Amino acid sequence: MRYLKNKIKKNNKGKLGIALVGLGGYAGGQLAPALQQTKHCYLAGIVTGTPSKIPLWKDKYNIPVENIYNYDNYDTIKDNPDIDIIYVVLPNSMHAEYTVRGFEAGKHVICEKPMALTVEECDKMIAASKKADKFLSIGYRLHFDPYHLDMIRMGTQKEYGAIKKIVSEFLQPSIKGEWRLDKKYSGGGPLMDLGIYCLQGVIYITGMEPVAVTAQTFPVSDKEKFTDIEETLDWQMEMPDGMIAECRTSYSGSANRIKAEAEKGWFELDPAFYYAGLKGTTADGKIIFHAPLSQQAKQMDDIALSIKNKKASIVPGEMGRRDVKIIEAIYKAMRTGERVVI
Ligand code: NDP
Repeated sequence: MRYLKNKIKKNNKGKLGIALVGLGGYAGGQLAPALQQTKHCYLAGIVTGTPSKIPLWKDKYNIPVENIYNYDNYDTIKDNPDIDIIYVVLPNSMHAEYTVRGFEAGKHVICEKPMALTVEECDKMIAASKKADKFLSIGYRLHFDPYHLDMIRMGTQKEYGAIKKIVSEFLQPSIKGEWRLDKKYSGGGPLMDLGIYCLQGVIYITGMEPVAVTAQTFPVSDKEKFTDIEETLDWQMEMPDGMIAECRTSYSGSANRIKAEAEKGWFELDPAFYYAGLKGTTADGKIIFHAPLSQQAKQMDDIALSIKNKKASIVPGEMGRRDVKIIEAIYKAMRTGERVVI
């Protein structure tokens, strides 16, 4: 095993070691494969509560047995010099605890979206990061995707003039029984999981943050499935220049797009939020095309590089907190029916 560990370290010389915490769909389907392509970081360890997952991960990714942890001995990761960065890929309700414990172990932390269930939790995470003098980043992969970078350029540089309206929708069915449908674990419905991409898109394409929100929900289609979360949510974000963004998210139906309508024409992505296969078009007939790449590999490399350079990443904890604050305002607007100033 020592021989294997030495070999892995030699092959990954100069890279930061990442430990994935929670080996579910996203960690296994996207992050671990992406870490086979990264130049500045590598998959050094895993943290799992399911012992039966260990043999497959250990063999597939050559993970030395001393870099495999569970939720009880997680804190002892502080003694492991192979692990530089903890990547929290757990249900939303566990983000705050495992991020804070990661900082207490003296590691940098990447935490998946949404950063946490409440602004109060976000504050604790940011305070823990400061106390440990380690960086906190959020797993906002689309900030590294070339299609979204094009949208940011067209929007913020006003290539089609000032934006007059943005429409964004992310609708995708959920599976009965999963933690996403249980508010205790998810903190809310599709807004926490899918709608956050629409919210983010509006902010980075305009380069502005909303000043007020309104929101409406609808009766659920399945009372056994949607017991304590919304199934569908429409919300509107008022931007500082008076522009209104109209957004919709749902755990029923299918839509995945963001369209900006500006003075001199529109530009859009449809689909917009998938891991691959995005498509961009503009009013003047331009087709946006980029060669396929791994958003997650770019994201983790960029974050690893910023850590190496002792700089905050472009997706810091403060951005995650900002979004949770807006989400809290949207839910308040949904519950009260009132316009909520942020
Ligand atoms: P999964 O349900 O597929 O995986 C979550 C994993 O967390 C489980 O497999 C399990 O891993 C661990 N876990 C620990 N305690 C629990 C518990 N009580 N209930 C369920 N799982 C538990 O979720 P995802 O991988 O889809 O999502 C994880 C996080 O990643 C979420 O915050 C989600 O929002 C985010 N995500 C981000 C995406 C992005 O594009 N940025 C895409 C998809 C998800 P183990 O058995 O190893 O302990």
